[in-house]
Amino acid sequence: MTTIFANLQAVKSRILAAALKAGRDPMDIRLLAVSKAWPAGAVREAASAGQREFGENYVREAVEKVTSLADLRLDWHFIGPLQSNKTRAVAEHFAWVHSIDRQKIAERLSEARGASRPPLQVCIQINVSGERTKGGVAAEDLPSLAQSVAALPNVTLRGLMAIPEPSQDMALLRRRFATVRRLKEQLCQAGMNLDTLSMGMSDDLEAAIMEGATIVRVGTAIFGRRPGLGAGLAQ
Ligand SMILES: *Cc1c(COP(=O)(O)O)cnc(C)c1O
Repeated sequence: MTTIFANLQAVKSRILAAALKAGRDPMDIRLLAVSKAWPAGAVREAASAGQREFGENYVREAVEKVTSLADLRLDWHFIGPLQSNKTRAVAEHFAWVHSIDRQKIAERLSEARGASRPPLQVCIQINVSGERTKGGVAAEDLPSLAQSVAALPNVTLRGLMAIPEPSQDMALLRRRFATVRRLKEQLCQAGMNLDTLSMGMSDDLEAAIMEGATIVRVGTAIFGRRPGLGAGLAQ
């Protein structure tokens, strides 16, 4: 058994245990394997172990991998910070974008996606840790951004994504994730049809699952410590 194969099994066991502890159906939690900074070969290995959904942060690196692995027909999720001049490449190569935090970016993605393909599935990234983390919309700006993203023709708003500040404090992490869950619930009460909470990574997926995560984004626990450039650029 390769390391990636064994690691995938271990992560799935953690997801299962956390789901049972939370009284949730484990089938409601999807594992996104974050392959940023790892070569296409590592993705192939994970795919041969049955993993179908992969997350990437850097557009250039991702487009190369997506293209060279096209034969595998994987589902690719863009989870990194997104600049306007990269929206076309992302709209072309990805099925999902988790990191929407501006109306302009969402508009450009919708326009670039066009009507001839299935809509791009998107989440709005919410900043739950205040100024200490960059990226993500502030809670008070979420309702209006959500309304305008939901109105775009070629994207489907699925839910919210968040990256709380790293912490060993389970109670703090749960409060952060609970904030994201409540914000999604408020949008649903306002009439939006959202089913996704993208939250939880290698170090905090249990806390996220306790608070309702439906997609956990896991890199290090599957592939190991990131090599080279990507290592210092986790977010
Ligand atoms: C890198 C990254 C992850 C994975 O983080 P790990 O700690 O390696 O599991 C998840 N989400 C985002 C947005 C990332 O940038």
